[in-house]
Amino acid sequence: MAEKELYNIGEIPPLGFVPKKMHAYVIHPEHHGPPLQAMKSEVVDLPEIGPNEVLVQVMTAGVNFNGVWASLGQPASPTRFHKHPFHIAGSDAAGVIWKLGSAVKSSVYPWKVGDEVLVHCGQTCGQCPYCNGGDPMFCREQKIWGYESAYGSFAQFTKVQAQQLLPKPANLTWEEAGCYTLVHATAWRMLYGHPPHTLQPGMNVLVWGGSGGLGSMAIQIVRAAGANAIAVVSSDERGKWCLDLGAKAYLNRKNFNCWGQLPRVSDLNAYGAYVKEVRKFGGAIWEITGKGVDPDIVFEHPGEQTFPVSCFVASRGGMVVFCAGTTGFNLTFDASYVWMRQKRIQGSHFATLYQAEAANKAVMDGRIKPAMSEVFEWERIPEAHDRMMNNVHPPGNMALMVQAARKGLKSLSEVT
Ligand code: NAP
Repeated sequence: MAEKELYNIGEIPPLGFVPKKMHAYVIHPEHHGPPLQAMKSEVVDLPEIGPNEVLVQVMTAGVNFNGVWASLGQPASPTRFHKHPFHIAGSDAAGVIWKLGSAVKSSVYPWKVGDEVLVHCGQTCGQCPYCNGGDPMFCREQKIWGYESAYGSFAQFTKVQAQQLLPKPANLTWEEAGCYTLVHATAWRMLYGHPPHTLQPGMNVLVWGGSGGLGSMAIQIVRAAGANAIAVVSSDERGKWCLDLGAKAYLNRKNFNCWGQLPRVSDLNAYGAYVKEVRKFGGAIWEITGKGVDPDIVFEHPGEQTFPVSCFVASRGGMVVFCAGTTGFNLTFDASYVWMRQKRIQGSHFATLYQAEAANKAVMDGRIKPAMSEVFEWERIPEAHDRMMNNVHPPGNMALMVQAARKGLKSLSEVT
């Protein structure tokens, strides 16, 4: 392929040649709204990379809620975080290193142009005490690439910090490789990153949204640890999908009526009726785990609609670990159940490179699969996000084709 200023989607420039312009899905702050409205395919200049950054040619990307929130501009426009005039979403990618910043070096991965990589979405300063001996997710400059940074993966090229790179599992196609890292690493930290409440063989883990992105990875992590995942879903079809993935059992949340914020505890009638319903749900868990056996860990993310129930059903001394409030941020719970039964409520956010790498190794050695569902071509990227926003997406992780010309390819040499 000759050197040009702009390449079509699926056209690969000569290795290491950086064109001036690229195709990208751009969100302008004045167009926030549903993804079909907010994400527009445009031509933009390629970003400059800093000394510790890397330019990656994006082969495939993944769909996750960051793209939905960025489109909607909720809870805030991403342009308010990064101050760039526009936003390119996309917090998952598989691709090829196209240019290295002048200061990039690594003894573990001696990255070079042409290497095939995955990108994890955790950006940090790299210099503070948390980044050097502490937990980098506590770094004050911690950001999510593609949400709090301007150049995400829904473009032919993206710029990332060198520490965001992981080797692409050679056993995966490009589309499989690009679709899972964000949810997989997040689920890994939720289940392994908060000692002493770390996943152990034989534990019972209640997994909300078992067929969703996070849920599908959580089920596999739990199963790989020799523990029991109990998936909660909204249809029997989704429940059966979770069983095939390795869940011990599933509960259809449509069969229960204990959702939403906690009624006032002093309103004895409303509260009493509510607790009766929650006990029904807890009883259904006991039918799976055994009488009196509550979940050791509740893997939570729906938020407002489910949080009080999560706090009720977690075991004495157990943990409710949450990374989101998809249905609302105003979380409520009966405090007495939490303090008297000494439960832990733990917030969790993405993952460190260490955790992302451990999660990725489990994929490389085949213990965990990307749970890829549908693959969408470039033109359908907004549609895939619209489906996720409306909870009508297929079970698992949706993949997006960017520069990979067709499905089933595994390396750059197969693409060019
Ligand atoms: P997803 O693929 O859409 O899965 C979410 C699941 O939640 C759905 O499959 C749905 O399953 C379930 N759900 C929807 N409404 C529900 C309700 N009212 N009650 C109970 N369950 C409900 O999304 P995801 O990728 O797993 O992400 C979920 C959330 O986590 C998003 O808000 C995302 O932004 C956040 N997240 C945060 C981090 C972090 O690092 N902090 C990382 C990844 C994701 P059913 O309808 O079948 O129950």
